[in-house]
Amino acid sequence: MTHAISMTHYFRPNVEAMAGYVPGEQPKPGTNIIKLNTNENPYPPSPTAMRVLQTLDGECLRRYPNPFANDFRQAISEVLEVPQDWIIVGNGSDDILNILVRACTELGRSVVYPTPTYVLYRTLAEIQPANVVEISYRDDFQLPIEELVAAKGAVTFIASPNSPSGHVVPTEDLQLLASELSGVLVVDEAYVDFADETALSLVQEFDNVIIARTLSKGYSLAGLRLGFGIANPSLLSGLFKVKDSYNVDAIACLVGAAAMRDQAYKNECVAKVKVSRAKLLLDLKQLGFQVRDSQTNFLLAAPPKGNAGEIYLALKERGILVRYFNQPGLNDKLRITVGTESQNQGLIEALIHLVQ
Ligand SMILES: *Cc1c(COP(=O)(O)O)cnc(C)c1O
Repeated sequence: MTHAISMTHYFRPNVEAMAGYVPGEQPKPGTNIIKLNTNENPYPPSPTAMRVLQTLDGECLRRYPNPFANDFRQAISEVLEVPQDWIIVGNGSDDILNILVRACTELGRSVVYPTPTYVLYRTLAEIQPANVVEISYRDDFQLPIEELVAAKGAVTFIASPNSPSGHVVPTEDLQLLASELSGVLVVDEAYVDFADETALSLVQEFDNVIIARTLSKGYSLAGLRLGFGIANPSLLSGLFKVKDSYNVDAIACLVGAAAMRDQAYKNECVAKVKVSRAKLLLDLKQLGFQVRDSQTNFLLAAPPKGNAGEIYLALKERGILVRYFNQPGLNDKLRITVGTESQNQGLIEALIHLVQ
């Protein structure tokens, strides 16, 4: 006997009602496409990290991993000069964001963030469920500090650098916000490796601030799923209660530690991306696009005739994937990940035909 497909009473009403997060398309590996839609680093992971992967001892898989990913924590601690007990490790930084929403919010407590930003913040709040307060950025992406404070978030998310805009929120603004909020301020620094500024020092000044970072972007390890949060131990104590006991696997922990220690390689890849970012920005402007300066590995670009949706589809037909957000304020723009020189060149050549 089969159940009718419409029988969905298994789910809580908020889960039933929500749309669910839609990740960028992930074509099969080996497919001949230029993939500039999910902000992966175009360069391979650190060779040292790959050697660790290739020489892994099966014994480390037979046993449960260390619950706190201590090998990785030690590497972070050395590189960023923060004590190990100020670090929580996650299965990607999305895991850290998820743990924060689980630990701090419920109906009657709000998740607050300025828009446009990372869509997952809303998804996480809808699953919990928690109240959601979205506040638009001011003109030219000025942070609406008073409105954010007035919204009284149990958790306030600020992505800095932000996606999809690519701008950095000045540390003074975050400092002011942290001092006026009674809830937790999460500074999501997924793109910090490509930026000129970090808010890391705020964790020493404020016990309600946590910095979230990832190895997915700067370190070319999106497939490994490894991220971390930095905050004072009293803020972390509640998060440790909520996280899965073994949220980070033994492979990620060891490979991630090696990647973290190989700062020279990461910096080399980031430097190449920054050079390409500047060139791609000029090339797009030359084609009539309006493009914002970016402190990330992507550009938000508005085509001259505003027909971003059409261009997105036409590029896709030619095997080039970029990100298109069909929502007010963004539906005239494309978010384009900075690729290798030849990928960017391929994109520009395709666009020459499409914008003319
Ligand atoms: C990519 C991204 C993340 C998630 O990174 P993972 O570590 O891969 O989960 C978090 N926040 C923002 C703003 C991102 O763009």
